[in-house]
Amino acid sequence: MTPLERALRERIAADGPISVEAYMEACNSYYYATRDPLGTRGDFTTAPEISQMFGELVGAALADCWKRAGAPADAIYAELGPGRGTLAVDALRVMRAAGFAGEVHLVETSPVLRALQQQAVPGAHWHESVDDLPARPLLLVANEFLDALPIRQFIGGAERRLLVAGGGLAFDRDGEIVEDSPAREAAVAAVATCLAARGGVALFIDYGHERTSAGDTLQAVRGHGFAPVLADPGEQDLTSHVDFEAVARAASDADALVTRVVGQGEWLSRLGIEARAQALVRANPDRAQEVHAALHRLAHPGEMGRLFKVIALHSQAWPAPAGLA
Ligand code: SAH
Repeated sequence: MTPLERALRERIAADGPISVEAYMEACNSYYYATRDPLGTRGDFTTAPEISQMFGELVGAALADCWKRAGAPADAIYAELGPGRGTLAVDALRVMRAAGFAGEVHLVETSPVLRALQQQAVPGAHWHESVDDLPARPLLLVANEFLDALPIRQFIGGAERRLLVAGGGLAFDRDGEIVEDSPAREAAVAAVATCLAARGGVALFIDYGHERTSAGDTLQAVRGHGFAPVLADPGEQDLTSHVDFEAVARAASDADALVTRVVGQGEWLSRLGIEARAQALVRANPDRAQEVHAALHRLAHPGEMGRLFKVIALHSQAWPAPAGLA
């Protein structure tokens, strides 16, 4: 039994069944606080870890918005859940070359990942929560951040909970599931409120669906494969599909403007990923195969191109980012 499972069983014995939301919260806090989960030797690989092209195109899109908004000197680069800091490094290289000299603010709860981010982006500022970001114009990106935030599940209007039965953790009911995520909506609303007050643009990239729909999307990922969600609490990544309709609603309720939702493949194509890949191959002919494989993985509809989606939020005075307008 994992240490977290022991703690959860004690909690259930003392206080009664816990919600799926409380379970996901406890599991992911423990999981991210105790390891670097990324890369081939970890549990999963994200877009910025596949290729520098991903972060570079994010940086180009943010820098372009910043210039079109008049290049305000007090704007900051902000990122939610920056992992190893790879996306920040690649995006900032492009943004610095475009003249952006602003501060870097990272929202990260994991001490292990903060230490890696500190090596990758020396001089950055760290925050525990989106609410702690400074009130400045934002150039914000969050890749695979929202999917890690806890969701609630409901069956017939009743919140689904976990209890201890048959010697292990078990769900208290089964049936048709409807999900929502107050934590996600709160994070999006906090970003949107900051944008509406101070200006800026935010990109949210994640896997999920364009329209709210019923269904169980809670999943556990471990060693690059799926695992049972109640197995080994705290030792595997718990995620769920992001409901982009709910994200858009939370953002517009907080007075940000919202773009349409676009598949990651279409978005990267519009930003010129094919040309970027060709330039990389020309500069590094020996890496041609690697670059083409990365392009395929990021953009092909059968890989990450369709399941992963992008939405942008922006303020009245700032333009929608390229590829989403
Ligand atoms: N964006 C990175 C990492 C994605 S993994 C990439 O694309 O590679 C999820 C990230 O979100 C990790 O950095 C994790 O520590 C962070 N995270 C998870 N829950 C969080 C929370 N509640 N607050 C802040 N960061 C969180």
